[in-house]
Amino acid sequence: MDRPLIVGAGLSGAVVARILAEGGIASVVVDARDHIAGNCHTSIDDASGIMVHRYGPHIFHTDDEIVWDFVNTHARFVPYVNRVKATVQGQVYAMPINLHTINQFFGETMNPAQAEAFIRAKATLLDDPANFEEQAMAMVGREIYEGFFAGYTRKQWGVDPTSLPGSILKRLPLRFTYDDNYFNHRFQGMPEDGYTAMVASILDHDLIEVRLGETFEGQQPRPDAHVFYSGPLDQYFDYCAGQLGYRTLDFEELRSDDDYQGVAVMNYCDQDVPWTRITDHKYFSPWRLNQTSGSVVYREYARAWTPGDTRYYPIRLVDDKKRLNDYVELAEAAQGVTFLGRLGTYRYLDMDKTIAEAMVAGQGALSAFRRGDSPQSSYVSLSA
Ligand code: UDP
Repeated sequence: MDRPLIVGAGLSGAVVARILAEGGIASVVVDARDHIAGNCHTSIDDASGIMVHRYGPHIFHTDDEIVWDFVNTHARFVPYVNRVKATVQGQVYAMPINLHTINQFFGETMNPAQAEAFIRAKATLLDDPANFEEQAMAMVGREIYEGFFAGYTRKQWGVDPTSLPGSILKRLPLRFTYDDNYFNHRFQGMPEDGYTAMVASILDHDLIEVRLGETFEGQQPRPDAHVFYSGPLDQYFDYCAGQLGYRTLDFEELRSDDDYQGVAVMNYCDQDVPWTRITDHKYFSPWRLNQTSGSVVYREYARAWTPGDTRYYPIRLVDDKKRLNDYVELAEAAQGVTFLGRLGTYRYLDMDKTIAEAMVAGQGALSAFRRGDSPQSSYVSLSA
């Protein structure tokens, strides 16, 4: 058997390569980009010393102890709590929606029980919210929906919230306490030396060869070499069922000698502000503040992906789902290839889920190789 070929040096590819390597199987990892770590790539800005999240902010959070242990063996994690602010109609609020947000927005001084009753009275009772807007109406009612979610979501996704799934909103907590932690997970932190260093550590093994600047299409693996593919699913099949829709992001970089906004992330929820959020990267590594100067700031704009752009968010609207089903059938019938990761399975995956699934894929493949079998074409339900 020739060495397996792993396409993509992001989290999925790196984790699979590591698991194979620890099981004694050598692999080659290729990535079309000139760096590892995919969209969680970080690097130090020379002028300011600031650790920049080149493809937008990535904050590690998980409930999965196995994943947390794994990342902690490859990086020293510094506790970090994501506390986001949101500007709405000239006022700054705390996100996600919590007791402070509610009291400030409605000019009240309610306690938790009062606020909960107050919001419940505003929420529309719906058994089964059919879309993002209905989900928001059922969770928080019209005022908060219009203030915090409608404009931001239109900018982020480029469609009306009535055509988006409610599951997107369910990512966010709603709290009737003053806890303004953006996530509910048990473990949360940032790798001290950045995600690129963490992925470099995962890939650092004698049985792993990494080749950057090389595309999958440019490879000529032997037919018996298994492929783990974390590139775009539709591209693998030459777009034969059409293009799957993505949102891409443009980052307008601003530099300031001063403290630009005093916080890592400021969301802009009003529709007439063209960007969705502004991030000041020095605050993603607060333990480095004494080694940096000024601010490196990204204004973030979302738009439809076109060929040549970086893919960020799978859209998964009705047409995309139809196309996805076609690709899922092709993927499940494909021999000698395992599809995984955000692009390989066309799903909105957080980093911890990506790692967890890649661990399962790697371990499954290892067992199959040891039995002399071929690994499955997919380890996760592609259509989930
Ligand atoms: N969202 C919003 N206003 C905000 C923050 C989030 O309307 O201030 C909506 C938006 O549709 C977004 C979704 O909630 O896509 C999920 O937010 P999350 O922060 O999880 O998005 P991420 O950028 O991490 O994918």
